[in-house]
Amino acid sequence: MNSPQSTDARSKERIAIVGLGLIGGSFASALKQNGYTGYISALVRTDAAAAKAIASGYVDHASTDAQSVISNADVVLLAVPMLAMRAQLQLVKPFLKPGCVITDAGSVKGPFVEDAQSVLNDMAYVVPGHPIAGREKSGIDAVDAALYQGKRVLLTPLDSTLPIAVELVTRLWQQCGAVVESLAVDHHDRVLASTSHLPHALAFALVDTLSSGQQHEEIFRYAAGGFGDFTRIASGDAVMWRDIFLTNKSAVCDALDAFNLHLAELRDAIESEDGDKLEAVFKRAKQSRDEHFETTTTITTKQKR
Ligand code: NAD
Repeated sequence: MNSPQSTDARSKERIAIVGLGLIGGSFASALKQNGYTGYISALVRTDAAAAKAIASGYVDHASTDAQSVISNADVVLLAVPMLAMRAQLQLVKPFLKPGCVITDAGSVKGPFVEDAQSVLNDMAYVVPGHPIAGREKSGIDAVDAALYQGKRVLLTPLDSTLPIAVELVTRLWQQCGAVVESLAVDHHDRVLASTSHLPHALAFALVDTLSSGQQHEEIFRYAAGGFGDFTRIASGDAVMWRDIFLTNKSAVCDALDAFNLHLAELRDAIESEDGDKLEAVFKRAKQSRDEHFETTTTITTKQKR
């Protein structure tokens, strides 16, 4: 593997991206835009996708042939839906050169670690990762070179992961403009179940509930800005979100159970006209949000310190 310190080695570094959609494409695009001098190739599923990828200018090479994309790679980034990870690991495994670093961008880390352990056996060069950045559009047409600018990327290396592998992946995400942090696999999946997966479940359920009501046209016509803000995330890709909920089942169900309890209490307070209780809940929620959510998810200077 190339030394992370050597500029000359970096200019010869080769990255292979498996799945050139929003996340993989934005990774390539951000690197190129920020002056990355290495070689980027992409493993795609159709010749048309390969032609489109090359025309985009984000990658130097794209192909449906795993061997041509993977065999010289120093780093492989898997950026496919969660339930496609295992098959892609099996596909690339025969072509991985010794010391190649394998990383991913999947939204749930436990299942990726299990897949990597069972397919690759050796976890020394595996660096699970998750960019806390995204949008509701998917596919290569949604690629955004600024997607990771100022956003967090969470890495969940195992004790057996080599520091040099973590350093390499960290450096690449930093070159995309991201701020990299590490945390434990299980901790990641529990935190994200509450902060990302639960809100998405609520948005999907809310929009679906209102859409199936008899007066749904009227409801959407008179919806205020808050409704649009709250439900924006319900436009996310159905396959990606199906996979996230199925692979983080236990943590998401715990988060939903806790939320259901709170919602039932709120309903009781409304029915029993308990204004004090309602006011107390709303004040607590406002205070908490105002304290912890200074801007959007962009990391502010204060938070970086
Ligand atoms: P995307 O739909 O934009 O791109 C997915 C890519 O994977 C496409 O190139 C597609 O052709 C390929 N793909 C899909 N199914 C496949 C299969 N069965 N086998 C092989 N390739 C397949 O999705 P994305 O938003 O780039 O998400 C990629 C990964 O990143 C997912 O694991 C997702 O959980 C994670 N992620 C997404 C976001 C987000 O907001 N979109 C944020 C952080 C992490």
